Amino acid sequence: MNNIIIAIDGYSSTGKGTFAVEIARRLGILYLDSGALYRTVTLYALRNGEIEWNGEIHDRMLQEDLLLGKVDISVAANPDGSMRVFLGGDDVSGKIRELEVARNVSAIATLPFVRNFVDEQLHRLGAKGCVMDGRDIGTAVFPNADLKIFMTADARIRAQRRVLQMEAAGQHPDFEAILRNVQERDYIDSHRAMNPLRKADDAIELDNSHMTVEEQMVWLDGILRERFNLSIL
Ligand code: C5P
Repeated sequence: MNNIIIAIDGYSSTGKGTFAVEIARRLGILYLDSGALYRTVTLYALRNGEIEWNGEIHDRMLQEDLLLGKVDISVAANPDGSMRVFLGGDDVSGKIRELEVARNVSAIATLPFVRNFVDEQLHRLGAKGCVMDGRDIGTAVFPNADLKIFMTADARIRAQRRVLQMEAAGQHPDFEAILRNVQERDYIDSHRAMNPLRKADDAIELDNSHMTVEEQMVWLDGILRERFNLSIL
């Protein structure tokens, strides 16, 4: 079942990435991080002066650059199953995690032409089978995915997880600022006009506020066994 498509959606910092990478590694299939593509478009726009300091987006310029193929994004898999992303050949996997990108990405992700651009890339990369995480994978990108999971967790626990991740990357984040960012992104993601974040009717919900990654694997193993006769333990 190498061509299985697993869609994982949910709020910011619910651990979708960690969960999805681990599934991909155990099943030996490709992991695709759709948020990383939105972040890379955002980094491009920041670098090219298409987002002002006050958050104003020059959407015409960005739309033109996307149309002209100037936003050259490619991806590669790490040995541990995680994904690296390149902008114009430069590895920007670290850069796209910085707070400046996080502050602007949800606004960029509301723009329909950006969503269409990212969706095209995701289809090109993932159509032959993948574990993909994001906000609209099960509802819009792959509505016929073989399995859909919707992840939630308490906002303060999510902010704390993000703080630990950033500290591990050598940054010095402020907890309250991260919590605000998490809540703002939840709001923008759930209220945008095009493909807002919502649980697909046929998605299974997973609240991992108090679960370890291994406990999540055990939970998923039950579903994979029952539905696909697959095991990840
Ligand atoms: O998953 P991550 O937090 O890296 O995603 C960054 C942002 O990209 C999200 O806050 C959201 O605004 C946007 N996004 C989206 N649709 C997706 C994935 C991410 O709108 N499928």
